[in-house]
Amino acid sequence: MCFICGERLLTPYAAHDQRSELQCGLCNRAKPPFAQAVTYGSYEGALRELIQLLKYQHIRPAAAVLGGMLSEAISKLGCVADTGRMLVIPVPLHRRKLSERGFNHSELIAEAALKREPGRRLSMDTSVLKRRRETQSQTGLTRHQRRENVRGAFLVEKSPVVAGRSALLVDDVFTTGTTVSECARTLLRAGASKVFVATVARTLKLEAQTIQIIRNVRTMAAAG
Ligand SMILES: [Zn+2]
Repeated sequence: MCFICGERLLTPYAAHDQRSELQCGLCNRAKPPFAQAVTYGSYEGALRELIQLLKYQHIRPAAAVLGGMLSEAISKLGCVADTGRMLVIPVPLHRRKLSERGFNHSELIAEAALKREPGRRLSMDTSVLKRRRETQSQTGLTRHQRRENVRGAFLVEKSPVVAGRSALLVDDVFTTGTTVSECARTLLRAGASKVFVATVARTLKLEAQTIQIIRNVRTMAAAG
């Protein structure tokens, strides 16, 4: 596994930094703005269904189970981050999306995880980071398009709250990391000392690429 982004290292290629931690080719070429991303499991099967149950069918009790998983993911940060003092920030939804859904799923998951972490004294703040514009779904976009799609989409409203502190961004799924990277850049610009990322699930890049190829083939077939 890549120490920074958590991607499974499928190829023998692996670079070492000074601490001899394994990195994937992508993180080695362009270091992500976050220090480390941890996750609970693969975005597939029952875990995928559970996330979709919460997000799309609004079955709120699913958040408690997902929160337990997130809490396990957070514990993987243990040795590198001072998890006792981190500011937990769920990836914000645009206010229109929020009123449509009625809740921010990442916030519910983070809240459930924090209930299981009394010893760590993690504190959540949902007023620091805002999504200032709506973004189209990242599904089916290339890495470059994803980056463009979220560029400048976030805004820190309370810089003094994040200044000099480590932040832990929470999201449901880590796909290519574009959204959390943009959030991390925004927080770092506002003075955060380090940004970590915890998600419940992640898709493998190889899997994402396969989906992209299938979509391209379908588009080509539809266009005749
Ligand atoms: Zn990586």
